[in-house]
Formats: sequence, C-alpha cells, structure tokens
Amino acid sequence: MAEPGKRRPLIAEIKRNSLDDGPGIRSVVFFKGCPLSCVWCHNPECIGAGPELIYRETQCIGCRTCAKVCPEKAIPEKDGPAAVDREKCNLCGVCVEECPSGALAIVGKYYTPDELVEALARDKAFYDNSGGGVTLSGGEPTLALDYTAEIAKKLNERGIRVLIETCADFDWDRVKEKLLPWVDLVFVDMKLCAEDLHKKFTRRDNARIKQNIERLIALESPRVLVRVPLIPEVTATRENLVAIAEWMRSHGLKRIALLPYNPLWLAKARGLGQSPSYQRDTWMSKEEREAVKKIFAEFEIERDI
Ligand code: SF4
Ligand code: SF4
Repeated sequence: MAEPGKRRPLIAEIKRNSLDDGPGIRSVVFFKGCPLSCVWCHNPECIGAGPELIYRETQCIGCRTCAKVCPEKAIPEKDGPAAVDREKCNLCGVCVEECPSGALAIVGKYYTPDELVEALARDKAFYDNSGGGVTLSGGEPTLALDYTAEIAKKLNERGIRVLIETCADFDWDRVKEKLLPWVDLVFVDMKLCAEDLHKKFTRRDNARIKQNIERLIALESPRVLVRVPLIPEVTATRENLVAIAEWMRSHGLKRIALLPYNPLWLAKARGLGQSPSYQRDTWMSKEEREAVKKIFAEFEIERDI
C-alpha cells in the first residue's frame, strides 16, 4: 500500500548492524508488500502492503490493559490480544501506546526518500570500514520501483553501496533501466523449479521469475548470487534441488547460497493473525543439511550454508 497521493511504500523495519544480509556491516530495509505469498515466508509481516497490528506473545505479561483501552472492543477480555478481531481493529494504535511491555506494535511506517536515506547514512563509517552498505529487502523492494530507485541513487551519491534482495517477479525493462544502475549486488531466490509446485507454494507462476534470473546472470554488473531457501518437504527435496543444480549448470553458475529453514517465523505469523498452512516448528537437522550439501557437491557447485 503506497501512501495516499505520494506513492511511498510502507517500511516494516530498518535493521542496523546486520552481518547476515550481504558483505560487511549493513543496514537492512524491509519493504512491505510482495507479489508472492510463500507458505513458509520468514518475513510474514512483509507480505501485505498495508499496516498491520502484531502481537508478540513472549513479551506479553497478561495484564489485559489492551482489552480495556481498545475503543473498538477488538480485543476480548477473556482471550486477550492473541485473539484480536482484525475485522473490528482499525489500527488506531491505542493498545500499542498503552501496552506496558511493548508486546503490541503497528508494523509499517512511511518515510520520505530523504528521511530514509538520512537514517541509513548515519552508519556510513561502519559500512566503509567493513565493506558493507545497505540492503533493500522485504517483501519485494522492486514493487515500489520509483521510490526504491530514488533511495538507491541517493545512497550511491553518498558513496554507500546497495544490495537488493528480490524474488525476481518484476518488470525486467523497468527494473533494469531505473534500479539496477544503482545496485552493486543482487541476491535472488530460486525456490522451486517445477511450475506447478511453484504456483502451489508461492501462489505465483515462475516463468517470469526464471527468465529474470537468467537475464540477471547474463549481465556483467551488478553481481548476482542465487539463493535457495531450504524448506523441508517443499524446496529441500532431492527432486527440486537436482533440478535447480541442473538449471544452474546450464547457465554456467558455480556458486549458490543455501538458506536453512528457520522456524521462528511461525510465531510472527500467528502474531499477525495468520494461520500458516506450513507448520514445521523445528530447525533442519544435521542429516538434512548434509543431504542437501551432497546434492550440490555432486554437481560441483560451491555453496554457502
Ligand atoms: S489498534 Fe486500536 S482498534 Fe486495533 S486492537 Fe489496538 S486499540 Fe483496538
Ligand atoms: S497490554 Fe500488552 S502486556 Fe498487557 S495483555 Fe495486552 S499485549 Fe499483553
């Protein structure tokens, strides 16, 4: 959802001092809004483009202040904030202000391009000393293309390197012309090779995604790293990983990043009132990770895991 009349997207979070989202020390901007709806999405607060109320159960002390102050009676006294009625909630934020433990929050904030760039440029010394920069992530940062391109250009003008994390479901010509000239590195996900499975688990076709990844790989600049989120019984099957390895080999790709499954997203999804259809609540075992590594070793593809 763009700000009415201003075409600005909502930002879910700005994470500073990250060591996990690209080279060096980075600030990561999580945009709200994604064309895909992956059943395992690790950032479920970034799928929807609009603002959302999130409840973090582990921070709640059970005082029920939120239920008492809600003007819409959207939080039942008996069941509390875990059972907030999202039809009644108008996101007024009263419960957030009154919650004594910070267990409630509205996810999504508008920034002007200058406000966002100023906030990110504060850590320039850390980026410079570590070979880091800014990562534009989400959600899908190319959805609000004009805004994202303006941010990337302004960061470049300040000597700050930009990385984008993308699902590649975008209009190639527009992204190539407006955004890529300001981007140093692209992290792009290859999730599922089979069309029917891609549609089943992400709710989108993968033809344009594959074509865009192939176009990215063919460019001299920016540099591209293909990543595979390892979701047990969905993407982390031998059949899918062999198909990805064969596809990589056919495009001359020799390095991949593997992202092992992390179950912590489930609590976030529930705190947003979502009912995830994918429910695995444990990390990948050593054996599962070794089996994945073995597949890529068979194809002589280097991997980060
Ligand atoms: S945001 Fe406002 S309407 Fe929604 S639950 Fe909180 S107090 Fe009630
Ligand atoms: S006000 Fe905050 S701490 Fe108290 S019940 Fe509501 S969410 Fe939990």
